[in-house]
Amino acid sequence: MQITLNDGNSIPQLGFGVFQVDPDHAERIVTDALEVGYRHIDTAAIYGNEEGVGRAIAKSGIPRDELFITTKLWNSEQGTQTVRDAMNVSLAKLGLDHVDLYLIHWPRPDLDRYIETWHVFEELQSKGLATSIGVSNFHEQHLDRLIAASTVVPAVDQVELHPAFSQAPLREYLRGKGIATEAWGPLGQGKYDLFGMPAVADAAAAHGVTPAQVVIRWHLQHEIIVFPKTNSRERMAENFDVFGFELSAAEMAAIDGLDQGLRVGSNPETAT
Ligand code: NAD
Repeated sequence: MQITLNDGNSIPQLGFGVFQVDPDHAERIVTDALEVGYRHIDTAAIYGNEEGVGRAIAKSGIPRDELFITTKLWNSEQGTQTVRDAMNVSLAKLGLDHVDLYLIHWPRPDLDRYIETWHVFEELQSKGLATSIGVSNFHEQHLDRLIAASTVVPAVDQVELHPAFSQAPLREYLRGKGIATEAWGPLGQGKYDLFGMPAVADAAAAHGVTPAQVVIRWHLQHEIIVFPKTNSRERMAENFDVFGFELSAAEMAAIDGLDQGLRVGSNPETAT
């Protein structure tokens, strides 16, 4: 299942995230993910595992144009020359001549350098080093400022998003701007009992699937781009096997009803 971004590039809607994947195990874990069938990998400079991701890609023999690789600029590198340098470092570590998507990891409003940084992202895109460019953890006010000061509208905004923190107003805003929504922490990072909530558990029982599969399916049916993380090959396969059933409108609405503004990660206004 592919989603077409506002720049015409297409992205596999279901991918594999590697936050907190140990750099020493990243090559094996990403190799497993590619063998299971994932073609979209979401990493970041700060995860420290770009080299392992790159080795897995090289070893896989999968044609480059069948893969969609995202990485992210870390906060300390926002600026002008620091951004160009950071892009080159990430590409070298990944062993690639371009990424499919490069993201500003956090807005860091306290630094007030995300617009300057974005202008360099536009340059990186025009040079072909990043096919698509986007942001992460940006709120409406950050995007309003950025769009007013720039030529390119971000292709995506990657934000914390799971049933208890479903971000409906931000998703609506992004839809209006033509920006695709990507979910991080799609399973709530295991930090609350999402899988035990009746709306999720009942749908799982009704369809004969697991609660994790129900939650991933909820993201997909909301047109959200999603890349759950796991170190286990069995769970990789489970999380990828979500196209054989469909949640009903009532099941979707019941899971929508779980929203309680429950943030499990940092607040973008104050994250450093
Ligand atoms: P997640 O919601 O994907 O949760 C991962 C947890 O869920 C792990 O503990 C894993 O063991 C468990 N899990 C996975 N599959 C399961 C299954 N089938 N059954 C039971 N448990 C299962 O959290 P995440 O890793 O934080 O988010 C996904 C990706 O989003 C990351 O790997 C990373 O690529 C990205 N991310 C981005 C940011 C950002 O600031 N942009 C922040 C965090 C994560």
